[in-house]
Amino acid sequence: METFDLRRKRPVIISGPCSAETEEQTLETCRRIAATGLVDVLRAGVWKPRTRPGTFEGVGLKGLAWMARAKEITGLPIAVEVATSKHVEGALEFGVDVLWVGARTTVNPFSVQDICDALRGSNVTVLIKNPMNPDIELWVGAVQRLQKVGIENIGLIHRGFSAIGGNYRNNPMWHLAIEMRRRMPGLPMICDPSHIVGRRDGLLEVAQKSADLNYDGLIVESHVCPEKAWSDASQQLTPSDLETMLRAVKWRKEAVDKPEFVQALDGFRAQIDQIDAELYDLLSRRMDIAEKIGEVKRDNNVTILQSGRWGDIVERVLAQSGKLRLSRDFLSTILEAIHLESINRQNQVMNKR
Ligand code: PEP
Ligand code: MN
Repeated sequence: METFDLRRKRPVIISGPCSAETEEQTLETCRRIAATGLVDVLRAGVWKPRTRPGTFEGVGLKGLAWMARAKEITGLPIAVEVATSKHVEGALEFGVDVLWVGARTTVNPFSVQDICDALRGSNVTVLIKNPMNPDIELWVGAVQRLQKVGIENIGLIHRGFSAIGGNYRNNPMWHLAIEMRRRMPGLPMICDPSHIVGRRDGLLEVAQKSADLNYDGLIVESHVCPEKAWSDASQQLTPSDLETMLRAVKWRKEAVDKPEFVQALDGFRAQIDQIDAELYDLLSRRMDIAEKIGEVKRDNNVTILQSGRWGDIVERVLAQSGKLRLSRDFLSTILEAIHLESINRQNQVMNKR
């Protein structure tokens, strides 16, 4: 079987139902989204990891036969989720081109290794979703396990991290996906707006953001009749809504060699580098003063944290949010980081033994 190269085209678009439910629903969805000409790979889950038993847990092997049929009809490669070595064996038998490891599986090195053991010697393409919890070491570890068994075509799927509250079903924590790219350069990164957002509205916004962060593609859930879907009904798109959304996303280039552009960018970057240098120098001087405060407090047997003083600082800085044109969230994050480092430095001074 020919390996599906994730870099064949940017963006690479994967779509299809959350779950294969019936033969008709699977084939009809795949036929209609393939007809848009915008989809490169068809997806469907046939084993569904569900939080509680007794809900729909996937149709199993017969779903693979439906997907194989969809591949025959449309000529498009197919993708399914695998969570055990048995799943891998089944998927390979049915000629599945792309396997993906789900977020609930990436968290568990035993499961990832079990999958890898079944993959040894195969040239199938494997996508790894980020783990449920915001620990990118698990994500890195899963990639390394796949590499160790000789899988060459590996990609990453960013589907967000388990969240309680908040606007979305899962918290994207974009910085973690960016860090993952820095740690694993060269691996394609695909965004899964469906599982990040958890609703139909808002998918385009997240997809566009990923395109502007130079992601390599999207995986989006679609269904002939989303309201009647047996899983993830609130986030799947009809084939025609999928088409509208995919056409709306703007995929920009990472770089152009137009001299005016390069010159303008270089100029701004030089300014940023200069300001950054000043910022870090200021921070360094600020921490030196924190150490001096630590000495005075130590000599007078006074605690590091004085809640009143800290509360005043936070209030004063946040009140300037509008004037500085910096969001309160951003200011809070910076304040917290500075305060923690300051406490650590004072702690070193006060408790040096
Ligand atoms: C899915 O893609 O249908 C799925 C179960 O995703 P995740 O592992 O991201 O929850
Ligand atoms: Mn789903």
